Amino acid sequence: MGRVEGKVAIVTGGALGIGRAACLLLAKEGAKVAVTDVLNKEGQELVDEIKGLGGVARFWHLDVTSEDEVKGVFTDIFKEFGKIDVLVNNAGIAGVNKPTHEITEEEWDKVMNVNVKGVFFCTKHAIPYMQKAGGGSVINLSSIYGLISAPDIPPYHASKGAVRLMSKTDALLYAKDNIRVNSVHPGYIWTPLVEDLGKKSPEGVEAFRKHLDSLHPIGHVGEPIDIAYGILYHASDESKFVTGSELVIDGGYTA
Ligand code: NAD
Repeated sequence: MGRVEGKVAIVTGGALGIGRAACLLLAKEGAKVAVTDVLNKEGQELVDEIKGLGGVARFWHLDVTSEDEVKGVFTDIFKEFGKIDVLVNNAGIAGVNKPTHEITEEEWDKVMNVNVKGVFFCTKHAIPYMQKAGGGSVINLSSIYGLISAPDIPPYHASKGAVRLMSKTDALLYAKDNIRVNSVHPGYIWTPLVEDLGKKSPEGVEAFRKHLDSLHPIGHVGEPIDIAYGILYHASDESKFVTGSELVIDGGYTA
């Protein structure tokens, strides 16, 4: 019996990085996984991999910035799997690394639309299904930069701070419905998102990675599976008394 046996889990931005690791682990632990992403090829390949391992999964194209698309896809997922127990609001982008006075409105909105509005749309359209089912778990990917800041990527840090307090507000709003809402705060995790930051850095990817390693007291950056285990805990009933919490998984970065 898996730790999330029989639960239906939606993962946004599930094709790569942390979302991908979460989809694989949730499926391994018995969940039916709705892998959603804007990347069709990578999403479908992941579903094939999960099925090859004996799990249950299906891919849906989903851009979290479109409320119509979120509504339509969640209706389809409900039709396919019969319920929605877990929502992992994972889709996120870093955006441009510029100081505040150089950022354009368009650059600011791009990050906010994915990282904040996307979480709002997906939560809004998952909650009624969870209320009908008598409970659920919403897991929001914030960041260490939802807890502390750094002198770079201002819209990203603002967006992750917003996600942290959206989680707490929704935790208070929906506790009466047995719907738990928690945020997860990763340190640097080596994923395509972070590798892309490395490619843009003047020192090059390897030097960038070494620099990131040095920021974590544990001596290295994290792997996607480190965060997937935190997501699994919140998706399972092991965390049935946990809501409005901040799960920090950061190798000691914020200690
Ligand atoms: P990633 O770039 O490796 O993967 C993100 C996924 O989201 C991709 O598959 C991408 O296609 C998808 N995505 C992007 N825009 C989308 C949209 N509009 N709609 C749907 N899907 C979309 O990123 P990651 O590093 O795995 O990060 C996952 C989450 O964890 C993000 O919210 C990120 O901010 C957060 N996080 C990551 C780190 C880290 O160090 N990697 C640290 C803290 C927080």
